[in-house]
Amino acid sequence: APKVGVLALQGDVREHLAVLGALGADAVPVRRPSELAEVAGLVLPGGESSVIDKLSRLFGMREPVRERIAAGMPVYGTCAGLIMLADSVLDGIAGQQNFGGLDVAVRRNAFGNQNDSFETDLDVPALGEPPVHAVFIRAPVVESVGANATVLASLPDGRIVAVEQGNLLGTSFHPEVTGEHRFHARFLDRVRATS
Ligand code: GLN
Repeated sequence: APKVGVLALQGDVREHLAVLGALGADAVPVRRPSELAEVAGLVLPGGESSVIDKLSRLFGMREPVRERIAAGMPVYGTCAGLIMLADSVLDGIAGQQNFGGLDVAVRRNAFGNQNDSFETDLDVPALGEPPVHAVFIRAPVVESVGANATVLASLPDGRIVAVEQGNLLGTSFHPEVTGEHRFHARFLDRVRATS
């Protein structure tokens, strides 16, 4: 099986490594360009996007990740990882940058106050039954989707929380903390198809 990585600068790296391992993948933490060069796909974890951004620049990872995304490497981003993948970020901190690649605009911390964190069962037609038990933790929302990206799931009020574009997949929520493996399996399918 091809080796895959989890960007391990900040965030819930271990949870992603555990899901990928449970699915039979050879999954490793990725912190340096030399480690990135050895993986056929990359997960961008949840955490704090402004910190992941700063550390990715500090570790010389920003340009190598951008190049691999442009070259078609499969990437799955959850929450902060989705923010890093979006072409446009609303409500970022001053100077916040992202990797980009996904033709969407996301808003950080879009669910205010008492709704800061919540769980719900989410219908994801592309994954079939059962619905996804989705955990949102200071989650972003996808405010607009460009012509190149596809919506995979929305909340009942219409807010978009899962998107896909070619080899790029992003969710506002955290399947890695609930035993939900289907998004990671979808990512691994892309890795197998491209490597
Ligand atoms: N609010 C965080 C950010 O802006 C994302 C939260 C998360 O990944 N659970 O990066």
